[in-house]
Amino acid sequence: MIGLTVLGSTGSIGVSTLDVVARHPEQYKVVALTANRDVDGLFQQCSRFQPAYAVMADSDSALALERRIVDAGLAVRVVAGVEGLESVASLDEVDYVMAAIVGAAGLLPALAAVRAGKRLLLANKEALVVSGHLFMDEVERCGATLLPIDSEHNALFQCMPKGYQQGLERVGVNRVLLTASGGPFRTFSREQLAEVTPAQACAHPNWDMGRKISVDSASMMNKGLEVIEACWLFYTSPENVQVVLHPQSVIHSMVEYVDGSVLAQLGNPDMRTPIAHALAWPERMASGVSPLDLFSVARFDFEPPDMDRFPCLELAYRAITAGGGMPAVLNAANEVAVDAFLNDRLRFVDIPRLIEETMTRCRKLESGIWRDCWLWMVKRGAWRNN
Ligand code: NDP
Repeated sequence: MIGLTVLGSTGSIGVSTLDVVARHPEQYKVVALTANRDVDGLFQQCSRFQPAYAVMADSDSALALERRIVDAGLAVRVVAGVEGLESVASLDEVDYVMAAIVGAAGLLPALAAVRAGKRLLLANKEALVVSGHLFMDEVERCGATLLPIDSEHNALFQCMPKGYQQGLERVGVNRVLLTASGGPFRTFSREQLAEVTPAQACAHPNWDMGRKISVDSASMMNKGLEVIEACWLFYTSPENVQVVLHPQSVIHSMVEYVDGSVLAQLGNPDMRTPIAHALAWPERMASGVSPLDLFSVARFDFEPPDMDRFPCLELAYRAITAGGGMPAVLNAANEVAVDAFLNDRLRFVDIPRLIEETMTRCRKLESGIWRDCWLWMVKRGAWRNN
């Protein structure tokens, strides 16, 4: 039996993961489930999957869950806080960890799984965006296995040749083509974008997802974060990652080779496919996803992204090109801006403005810090000591 921890089990990816796992009870044992504040959701999952541990990041919610677990007579140990998340990601009896917490809050538990050498199924793209170099170094140092869950990166992983970790050029890969649905506002004018509501942004035409990633998808920041994620996962640079709008969301991404071949992975837009792929890899197993009916899809369309109407994508390219801490700045500003938009404190079109302003200020701050450092050294005559 393979022991599994699902970080963020009450979310969209977490629920899909448990759906796949429930189809293969002879193969997987759920050891730990985690959430932030959704006591009802986690209690129901505990009743069904009987994990050894349940963690709630929020301590009041953990107390509420513990009361319900005790009343129901379940043998589940309830733990609270980030330390609890890190500990269930690194337990000896856990082989695989699904990282499906939303946002940078997922970084520490994902890193704990990496440091314990687990197979990490990474949905939480923000973890890689904010700590790319460090994260990938730790994967290598600790011998962890990192498998992408994002449908695009999972598709790229499936189309990559062996040995891509040595560099894409060496294995004959020209570039990667990252497909994007374009989100619910793909055809909206600037005037229409100025008026959109959180409910509209969360109504994705093809995918059923959590609220934060739905807004990211609508602003195209999701694709920007995925460009950064692709650079880290596939050892490449942003100029080798091309975004292609494909409104049907059937081709999940493509790898272009130097001989002109382009390999693509196709399937219905359902996250259970990449989840089952990463759980079973290098084997295959049923996911519950219905077979792709190409006659009902009928056609594939492609178009270039419009970075004027959707500047978040361009900001993400700018951040990964600048390197250093800039992707983390981009991600942090985006998390704050999306939260403000979802709570009616910011207009949709102000999301990229806020991010750009934050990036500009941080760049100035960064150069300011170097200038101050230099002045301090000059005043102290520090260079003379070397
Ligand atoms: P959801 O919002 O649906 O779920 C998020 C999960 O994380 C919930 O279990 C939530 O608990 C938990 N959580 C939220 N905040 C915290 C916190 N501070 N500490 C601990 N746990 C927390 O998100 P999704 O499932 O949509 O997305 C999860 C990740 O997967 C994201 O990084 C997203 O970008 C990525 N992803 C998602 C896809 C999708 O189709 N949904 C596709 C590809 C990638 P609670 O329920 O208590 O709030």
